[in-house]
Amino acid sequence: MALLVEKYGGTSVGDVARINAVADKVASSHAQGNDMVVVVSAMSGETNRLSELAVEVNPLAPAREVDVLLSTGEQVTIALLSMALHKRGVYARSYTGSQVHIRTDSVHGRARIVDIDDARVRNDIAQGRVVVVAGFQGVDEDQNITTLGRGGSDTTAVAMAAALRADECRIYTDVDGVYTADPRIVPEARRLDHITCEEMLEMASLGAKVLQTRSVEFAGKYRVPLRVLSAFEDGPGTLITYEESTMEQPMISGIAYNKDEAKLTIRGIPDEPGIAYRIVGPISDAHVNVDMIVQNVGADGTTDLTFTVHRNDYQKALDTLTEIAKELKARDVGGDDDIAKLSVVGVGMRSHAGIASTMFHALAEEGINIQMISTSEIKISVVVEDKYLELGVRTLHKAFGLENGRAAQSE
Ligand code: ASP
Ligand code: MG
Repeated sequence: MALLVEKYGGTSVGDVARINAVADKVASSHAQGNDMVVVVSAMSGETNRLSELAVEVNPLAPAREVDVLLSTGEQVTIALLSMALHKRGVYARSYTGSQVHIRTDSVHGRARIVDIDDARVRNDIAQGRVVVVAGFQGVDEDQNITTLGRGGSDTTAVAMAAALRADECRIYTDVDGVYTADPRIVPEARRLDHITCEEMLEMASLGAKVLQTRSVEFAGKYRVPLRVLSAFEDGPGTLITYEESTMEQPMISGIAYNKDEAKLTIRGIPDEPGIAYRIVGPISDAHVNVDMIVQNVGADGTTDLTFTVHRNDYQKALDTLTEIAKELKARDVGGDDDIAKLSVVGVGMRSHAGIASTMFHALAEEGINIQMISTSEIKISVVVEDKYLELGVRTLHKAFGLENGRAAQSE
């Protein structure tokens, strides 16, 4: 018998048949003696539909009102799932985020959870009830409804699990775990039995859209036992771990990609102290996040700087950079949004040389030009032309032997 927090995403509650299937699953786990808290998303497509409605009525709608609207999607599914559970003889109770006191800050649209008052949930569990909680939403100090950002139900589930010290937090989704690469691109990709939290964080932030990045950060902070599994097929899924096992640690766990970035370059700027700040400062003042940054070794007293931003911010960043270029009397400014970022991720690379050379060699063999490189302790990323995204991912997956786990094992 365990205390489980289970989260079901939009496709898993996409219609009545699927809601019934979730109810069957929850009811059977409850019948086995487990205490259950279930977090649900809105029915698939619903949050998009609601956002579009808001834009139609008022493209400049106040963020507070948008949150009131968006939070209704999850309110529908908690009620329906609870009804379905009652039909199966399970006493269930649904709660909105504000009812269970998922307290957040007041940043509408991407609020952060600051505290959960779990007294009510604990009381229900003690009475043998199944608790059904609306994902993606909370309430601020002044009782305003807030939402946690797209994909935020994952974070609700992890936060509930942390508050309740659950034995496991299970994220049920439409894939059966975390893969060595996107299986739509690499048919040979394998499901990983486990992945370290650090690696998962890299994979999530690099664009593997299995878990919301923030939920992984939250899980890491509170060491929540977290598992990703399929809502439709039985299987062990992928467990997120917090210890690096020293034995058989793969050098590389997976290949991630991101096609949401754009690249900007400023050339012929003075090579002197403060120059990077004078460029990146105004970009971040414009609320644009900078990801990779590369500065060239200066020659003849000048240097070049290249950086990447989210594609949505490309125009804004380019306008800002053009202004800066005038002030700095730069030679020129350029940009390119036809790029993709490919990354190899693995905690095992810490103790292995030669990962970068294997990576660069494999890309070279395919004639894929590398435009930028960045590294961290557990990741190497390169920027390439976006038409090479699929070929690049397949090439790297093969180069590191990920299809059969062979070369991926440390010797
Ligand atoms: N319904 C929200 C969304 O579509 C939250 C979630 O599904 O996690 O982003
Ligand atoms: Mg999701």
